[in-house]
Amino acid sequence: MISLDFQQLRPETLLVFTDFASAMALRAFQTKNSSVDGHAANDNFVCISNRRIATVEEMKKTKDKSVLISEDLEVFDVDVHHYFEETYSSGKKTDHAMHNVCLDNTISLYRKEFQKRYNCELKNVIVWTDNAPTQYRCRQNFLKVASVAERHDGIQITHRLAVVDNFKGVHDAVGKDCAQLIKGLELIGIRSPNAEAVFKNCYERLEKSDEHTEWKGYEKEKDGRLKNKGRFGMDRRTVWFVVESEDEHDRLSLRYPGRILLCDRSFVLDTHTGKAVEGTQQMHELRSSATEVPVVHPLKWPASVANLPCNCISCYNNPLNDQCKYIEWRLPREVQLQIKCLHPKEAERWVGDELVHNIDKKGVNAKAIEFLLAENKWKIELDGGKHMMISYDQFCRGKKRLEKMNAQKKKKDARTK
Ligand SMILES: [Zn+2]
Repeated sequence: MISLDFQQLRPETLLVFTDFASAMALRAFQTKNSSVDGHAANDNFVCISNRRIATVEEMKKTKDKSVLISEDLEVFDVDVHHYFEETYSSGKKTDHAMHNVCLDNTISLYRKEFQKRYNCELKNVIVWTDNAPTQYRCRQNFLKVASVAERHDGIQITHRLAVVDNFKGVHDAVGKDCAQLIKGLELIGIRSPNAEAVFKNCYERLEKSDEHTEWKGYEKEKDGRLKNKGRFGMDRRTVWFVVESEDEHDRLSLRYPGRILLCDRSFVLDTHTGKAVEGTQQMHELRSSATEVPVVHPLKWPASVANLPCNCISCYNNPLNDQCKYIEWRLPREVQLQIKCLHPKEAERWVGDELVHNIDKKGVNAKAIEFLLAENKWKIELDGGKHMMISYDQFCRGKKRLEKMNAQKKKKDARTK
């Protein structure tokens, strides 16, 4: 399946392999005191694009003469991105929120890169991950995939969860480069006591453009050594740092312009009931299908899901087709993911809106007077002055009741005239 993604990689598609490396424990080589070890979370993204055929030529000696043999190779642009984040306990920050900040940055970056490098528009992003329940196989992540249109207009994401348990590969190997560098520096007295230092040391020593790596030169010269590139021979490497506060973001952005990202965990998009999408235990592919942000409240994001990832021509063109020869195992279907609450900025705009709230099966007019972020709820004032808290779902129903009541009133007025 992964092989097919390579062979069929289209010009407008970016193929991504990603995983968190095991957290780096930043223990000093010579521990002076019993200070707590810092930890750096490292999320690695390997981004593949621009499938092309390159020709190489090699002299081959036969019995009595040398002949020039030419060979066609399938090559790709391979970029590695390391995203670091501070974490005081191992594993704590390696979650769906961090993954999605990194993925959003990757998509924004490659929209520009596709234009610049290939004069082509990025349209599809295929993301391969393992099944980690706190990172990828969770409703918060599925909702992020389904709602991509909200953040990246015109982009479709296909998230593929590896069917096998041992999803190992290049995305693991690349993380080891950072760990090795930090360990080596520690041995010669260059410390990395926290994730910021890890980022700084990797940023200064590991970054590479395609001018620093050998492959572009080999391709141009038709050099046979291009064969060693394989699928994952790296062309470029970029290092990023993810922080959690705006102050830190502003402070570090001055020193590392464009390389600092903000992961705001104060609001996480979640599903209405907090329940998983039905049948997601067997699901291994989820594809965004909304091309526009839905306008009817409560907002529901549609997505196409399947138990088996497939890349046949029928599935590529329409994931819900019934022509796929694996359909029996694939079981493609459409799902709707209803959000639990609006983004705080939009939720604030609902303050002042009117609704009809049901109390003991009787409609009472009310008005939202405040949005409380911590609870994801609005404080409303009922006719008569009483206050209470309501959820997004309740607010949506209250607005519908008001609409219905107003419509009935209008009808009644029309009749009495
Ligand atoms: Zn298929």
